[in-house]
Amino acid sequence: MKAYFARNKLAYLDYAATTPVRPEVVKAMGPYWTKEFGNPSSIHSWGKRARIAVEEARKRIAKILNCKPEEIIFTGTNTLSTNLAIQGVVKSLQEKNKGKKLHLITSQIEHHAVLDTFKALEKEGFEVTYLPVDKEGLVDAKNAKEAIKENTVLISIMYANNEVGTIQPVGEIAETIRQTPSAKKPLFHTDAAAVVDYLDVDVKKLGVDLMTIGAHKFGGPKGIGVLYIKSGTPISPLTYGGHHERSLYPGTEAVSLLVGMAEALEIAGEERKQAGKKVAQLRDRLIKGVLTKIPDSQLTGHPTKRLPDFASFIIKGVEGEAMLLHLDAAGIAASSGSACTSGILEPSHVLIAMGISPELAHGSLRFSLGKDTSGKEIDYVIKVLPGIVKKLRKMAPKIKETRDTI
Ligand SMILES: *Cc1c(COP(=O)(O)O)cnc(C)c1O
Repeated sequence: MKAYFARNKLAYLDYAATTPVRPEVVKAMGPYWTKEFGNPSSIHSWGKRARIAVEEARKRIAKILNCKPEEIIFTGTNTLSTNLAIQGVVKSLQEKNKGKKLHLITSQIEHHAVLDTFKALEKEGFEVTYLPVDKEGLVDAKNAKEAIKENTVLISIMYANNEVGTIQPVGEIAETIRQTPSAKKPLFHTDAAAVVDYLDVDVKKLGVDLMTIGAHKFGGPKGIGVLYIKSGTPISPLTYGGHHERSLYPGTEAVSLLVGMAEALEIAGEERKQAGKKVAQLRDRLIKGVLTKIPDSQLTGHPTKRLPDFASFIIKGVEGEAMLLHLDAAGIAASSGSACTSGILEPSHVLIAMGISPELAHGSLRFSLGKDTSGKEIDYVIKVLPGIVKKLRKMAPKIKETRDTI
């Protein structure tokens, strides 16, 4: 059976981890690997053509984000964008406010690319408030408002969570910031890495000062990201070299990758509405199937304020990693919030923040759908998963017994 599905039917339901590069994107990148290989900083015509490609891509991306091309900085990944946004702003403001203790705000459910950056800054002596979330993984804009102090300089709240798909009130938080007295208006960054295929990423509508996106989450190549930086935002470089990307991300531009990212972002924008509808239907079918076929299972995240591609669950009495291995053996790719680091199963910080017990959190299972996902794949998962869960639940007490006797 394994061989049959390996050949004929793989259900890739882990698009939140990464997406395949679109054929149109591969095509757009093509010439820049080989014929048009010039360095955009070179004076000669090879260089000039590469420079044109870079600036064209910047313009196309700026148009979709509704900002000026010079507000687009190309980086390496989402992680590098979030780090530049958070550390770069803090560094610049620290230089301007010598001796003053600065306060920063984020949420407890950020991706590690944001959370661990704040933890590092906290160790350096910055004061950080980690906003809580409710049972459905939602940050309350009121809490953000109340947390703002006279020395608050930066707030970073993700656009939507990458484990449970809950969409955060980013616009509302931006409005709160706008209404705070001007002397203490903090800057606002959002990590929009998880949303580009399905939600509008217009920075003006969102009202953010900085925004992170990265191509591989929306049909583009790995190794390229964008940081939107609103004109006038104080920010210092974290790395040094040439004058590329306004000296904020020095190093020769990844010409082919950023051309591919521009193409992928345009396609994402064009397809957003339709894709969202189609994917949400399949997601609902999957949610219904799992909840009705598997006893003691529950949906995690918000019932309505959620990304259309996210179906995330807690399956009681089963370990996420065990489910993933069995699913993989059946040709299904999924993910779990728990990460097995150095032999210890760490429950997801997101689920813990949502008030789910560590024991239950171990049973987390995330399916993230994509534009290519078919009804057949969904039905296959619904058919196979209950059996896997049943088998693992039968095994679970035995494992416990052996552990207890050791
Ligand atoms: C994937 C993801 C990241 C990290 O992306 P990289 O490409 O690995 O740097 C950060 N934040 C969110 C919300 C994500 O979904």
